[in-house]
Amino acid sequence: MAIDAQKRRLFRRQPSSSIRPPYSRTDADFTDLCNRCQLCIPTCDTGILIAGDGGFVEVDFTKGECTFCGKCQQVCEAPVFNPEQAKPWSHLAVVAHHCLAFEGVMCQTCRDNCDVTAIRFDLHAKPAPTPHINPDLCNGCGACVASCPVQAITMKVPTSTD
Ligand code: SF4
Ligand code: SF4
Ligand code: SF4
Repeated sequence: MAIDAQKRRLFRRQPSSSIRPPYSRTDADFTDLCNRCQLCIPTCDTGILIAGDGGFVEVDFTKGECTFCGKCQQVCEAPVFNPEQAKPWSHLAVVAHHCLAFEGVMCQTCRDNCDVTAIRFDLHAKPAPTPHINPDLCNGCGACVASCPVQAITMKVPTSTD
């Protein structure tokens, strides 16, 4: 028991950029409180939960999107979730410059997969319309990530310099 507590503190010291299931507490709290039972992995509607570093569960948006079905929360017996928090998570979609549209290719696949219309295209951009994410609308669901043919979309927590 004492060793387990020691291990938890060890993991807590490691800064992590992993994305935890929606409505998880801070990453430090998550790795402190999660018992790594991994019960949530098979319950996930879209199969996007994986065992990450140290056996802690994280989201892999290359596998699909989060539907916010809530099953990961329902099955979890540890206090790692805070359903009262205003947003499911703090990351947003970000488009990298190797997006085909910036190369002049007519591609709007990501927009077609965004249910909340958070991706708009600048129709005046030359040689082709280019995508822009509306941070007020993006809910971080990740539906755009797997849809992009060149993996140009990643999830990022905005900083004051963005
Ligand atoms: S809310 Fe549903 S789809 Fe999203 S990570 Fe949890 S189980 Fe998977
Ligand atoms: S993460 Fe979801 S809500 Fe945000 S731009 Fe992509 S598809 Fe739209
Ligand atoms: S799907 Fe990918 S390549 Fe196509 S416009 Fe969107 S970000 Fe660019």
